[in-house]
Amino acid sequence: MKVLLATRNAGKVDELRQILAEAAPHVELVGLDAVDEYPETPETELTFAGNALLKARDGVKHTGLPTIADDSGIAVDALNGMPGVLSARWAGSRKDDAANNALLLDQLSDVPDELRTAKFVCAAVIAYPDGRETVVHGEMPGRVIREPRGANGFGYDPLFVPDGFTLTSAEISAAEKNAISHRGKAFRELATKI
Ligand code: IMP
Repeated sequence: MKVLLATRNAGKVDELRQILAEAAPHVELVGLDAVDEYPETPETELTFAGNALLKARDGVKHTGLPTIADDSGIAVDALNGMPGVLSARWAGSRKDDAANNALLLDQLSDVPDELRTAKFVCAAVIAYPDGRETVVHGEMPGRVIREPRGANGFGYDPLFVPDGFTLTSAEISAAEKNAISHRGKAFRELATKI
């Protein structure tokens, strides 16, 4: 069964492909690069699941393939769960990781260490051409430190120390992060439900 993962991020396709190889070996996963191009889906919903559903339904509509999509971000307790679905554009529409991190640090400058708790959240969805849909969530709890550390990962990884770790998620390897990450958890659960 051919399934689309509605992303141009080759790393995400590789990660899910590895998970599916064990959990759902009948699935052949392809990314957006392998199908006819269609306009990028605007992420207009206020929840991760809502945005993932928009992307998955759009994939089905344009390709006729069962489509998986995910949406993720960081929810900071001291900011009442923000940046949340606005994580990629927190410092403006340019999706600039360095500016997002600088703004988050500035906003949290007066927040003491014990209150700097946060979690990464991921919603992953599969939508089928017959209208069936499955939604799952994964979370990675941790805390936001005061200065960026590490060069792996992306986004807010240099500012985030997962619970049980002393290194940031930009200082651990991709395999270590996938084993504990919000996206890894969501993808592994979704793989059992395809
Ligand atoms: P998405 O690509 O629409 O899901 O947006 C995800 C945004 O949330 C990214 O641009 C990052 O800012 C942030 N984010 C999500 N997952 C991670 C992660 O694993 N590490 C760091 N930042 C993340």
